[in-house]
Amino acid sequence: MIAAPTDQIRGIYHRRIGDIVVTAISDGFVNGSYAMLRDIDEQNAERLLTEAFVPAPPRISVNCFVIHSAGRVGLIDTGCGVSMGDQLGKLPENLSHCGIDSAAIDTVMLTHMHPDHSNGLTAPDGTAHFANAELVVSETDVKHWHDDSAMSIASPRHQDRFFKGAREQIVPYLNRRRDSRGEVFPGVTALPLPGHTPGHTGYMIQSGGEQLLVWGDIFHIPDIQVPHPEVHVEPDSDHRQAVETRRRAFDMAATDRLLVAGMHMHFPGFLHITGNAAKGYRLHKEAWVQAF
Ligand SMILES: [Zn+2]
Repeated sequence: MIAAPTDQIRGIYHRRIGDIVVTAISDGFVNGSYAMLRDIDEQNAERLLTEAFVPAPPRISVNCFVIHSAGRVGLIDTGCGVSMGDQLGKLPENLSHCGIDSAAIDTVMLTHMHPDHSNGLTAPDGTAHFANAELVVSETDVKHWHDDSAMSIASPRHQDRFFKGAREQIVPYLNRRRDSRGEVFPGVTALPLPGHTPGHTGYMIQSGGEQLLVWGDIFHIPDIQVPHPEVHVEPDSDHRQAVETRRRAFDMAATDRLLVAGMHMHFPGFLHITGNAAKGYRLHKEAWVQAF
């Protein structure tokens, strides 16, 4: 009698970009709701998800990306921390499973400050999870989340989750942080993609003639927002700008035939986009590749 396996493969996936190794690490997933979507009705949203063979209501992956470059280790986004539910906060155990010591990470780059990206910076007792890391984050985001007048006109949910959360998460890094501009890590250049938050930032990774754009939250529900880029989500700071930036990012990815990685793309999160505004856009999940 041979026992069947009971453990799934870990949420760890390596992708080589020239001399740089990018490792997608799953922080888990969250079961979303139709209520987070704007400019689409529930019926249509459900139909698009069902037609794409993905869970309906949407299941949203949360991905982070480790970068080994020039003998250094960096991390893009930190996941939810351990406080957001059973299926989230898996980054620390997946990092250690892949032999990466959080103390060895010298740079943490954030796409933006929202709980599913920046909660993992800091433990509930206020200590830094990344003891030796410098934080690269858009000053525009830092200023926005510390702006009392912006906070006063935000919804109570945004005040609590986004404004207060960002202020708490950044405390241990306040004196060791850098604006996300230009080359922020060997082979990694910041690219402003504002809208979802005012300082939302992508990171272009380039080595040996190869490129990967880690584009953060250009979409949250890929199977809906690629065919319908006008669909936006409740957490967007400026939904008009978010839609505009999404279209611009899709056009850039399609025109340049870019490899893209998304924080909320189905794990491991690598994809291509084809098409244009007139014909519509299409999502292509990247096939499994042998990294080494
Ligand atoms: Zn997000």
